[in-house]
Amino acid sequence: MNNPDCIFCKIATGEIPKDFFYRDAEFMVFADIHPAAPTHLLVLPNDHILRSMAEVTPELHPMLGRMFQLARTIAEKAGVADDGYRLVFNVRHHAGQEVDHLHLHILGGQVLGPLG
Ligand code: 5GP
Ligand code: ZN
Repeated sequence: MNNPDCIFCKIATGEIPKDFFYRDAEFMVFADIHPAAPTHLLVLPNDHILRSMAEVTPELHPMLGRMFQLARTIAEKAGVADDGYRLVFNVRHHAGQEVDHLHLHILGGQVLGPLG
């Protein structure tokens, strides 16, 4: 499932080359191109399943569960788990969502500022 206009789909297909921090048949993880913290990784399904958490449905809960479990594993592999980190989904305009392909930000490596 692919959207030819989506930059994350282009990364998934290899049209845009990327060094993956982690990749499997369902998910990919890579560093954000404009890091907002010393560790800033994106965890996302390979497929263009939904644009954001605003489209979540019960059928997607198992996939989201696997995604959250993977985020835990990735945070540990990235070395930010002990000190702590932030998981962020931006949803639509007011949150500054830029890419309409579901992705979870992992931010860490420093004390993070307040939300807002
Ligand atoms: P959003 O604002 O939609 O939650 O997050 C999209 C993120 O993707 C942004 O933080 C942006 O820096 C990142 N990003 C956009 N295009 C690319 C790209 O081509 N490569 C990588 N690694 N990150 C990207
Ligand atoms: Zn996509």
